[in-house]
Amino acid sequence: MAHPKHRISSTRRDKRRTHYKAVAPTLAACSNCGATFKYHTVCPECGYYRGKQVVVKEIAV
Ligand SMILES: [Zn+2]
Repeated sequence: MAHPKHRISSTRRDKRRTHYKAVAPTLAACSNCGATFKYHTVCPECGYYRGKQVVVKEIAV
């Protein structure tokens, strides 16, 4: 099996990881209700996607 010849020091490992960053998701405003939600997803508030109702929200009894 492939095996590293030398140990990578914690400094070298951590320096490599300085480029690993979390990216903020692109947010969109719903055209129907104005709620803010993640792009390319159905609006969690009203169930609209690209101007059409695709998910009908169940009304709590
Ligand atoms: Zn909406």
